[in-house]
Amino acid sequence: MQSFDKKIFVLILAIILHFPAIHLFAQTPKINFSKVTDNIYEIIGGKGARSTVFFGETGTLLIDTKGDEQDMRSILDRIGAMSDKPLLFLVNTHSDGDHNDGNLFIPESVTIISHENCRSELFMPRRDGGSTGWEAPERKPFLPEVCYRDSMSLYFGSERVELRHFGVGHTSGDTVVYFPEQKIAVLGDQYFELPTPYIHDYKGGSPSGNIVNLGRMLAELDVITFLSGHTEPVGRKEILFCIGAMKSRFEKMRESVVAGNTFEDIIKGKEGRELTLTTAIYHEVKAGK
Ligand SMILES: [Zn+2]
Repeated sequence: MQSFDKKIFVLILAIILHFPAIHLFAQTPKINFSKVTDNIYEIIGGKGARSTVFFGETGTLLIDTKGDEQDMRSILDRIGAMSDKPLLFLVNTHSDGDHNDGNLFIPESVTIISHENCRSELFMPRRDGGSTGWEAPERKPFLPEVCYRDSMSLYFGSERVELRHFGVGHTSGDTVVYFPEQKIAVLGDQYFELPTPYIHDYKGGSPSGNIVNLGRMLAELDVITFLSGHTEPVGRKEILFCIGAMKSRFEKMRESVVAGNTFEDIIKGKEGRELTLTTAIYHEVKAGK
């Protein structure tokens, strides 16, 4: 290619790469409040997982934050337009960034709550060994500042909301936010779309723990509708199906190990989330779970 042609080629390439229409496909959907009941909405779109907002008698509760400032500004504006009560609490369901990166844009007057282990996990390296960034001093005001171990109640006038921890699962510090009167629970990422639930064993999560804690949750909570970070709302049937699918993964793994397959045989051809989950189940089966 002659140098003049080359220049034109580079120029055209630069225009294509910078032309906004080309980036339309990469744009995240706009923030949308999806009504679940008269005072509970799922917040869909933006960068990050689904969030939930509850408008209580005396104030508002936000469950999880989105990934960037613009999303958070639009969420806070919308919350302000929908209620004249203050935003009192933010609950982080767990430590993954797609649920708490937006904490940085929450007013400092809001009390941030999480399970004790969720707060600890924020300081652990990521799966790839990189830093989460939460050790930065300027982030201190946006860390969870009230933490619990087993359960905790939040009151909004006469309305009670329960925070429950049922043991290790997706991570070691997952919170289920339970609205007893409305028979609704917000699970974070403890329920994940099949076929491959996401288990962060590198920060204390456990596939066998996921079976146990989802079972405990169904037994102890009177819930009809479960909201979660990356799926449409589901019912008890879907949670039971998810538990059953995880159990059958364990059975297959036990059979495979007993048949003499090595770890290398078992993970052959697997990648991404499937590789992560298979590896975690393998180690738990070898440990007798
Ligand atoms: Zn998530």
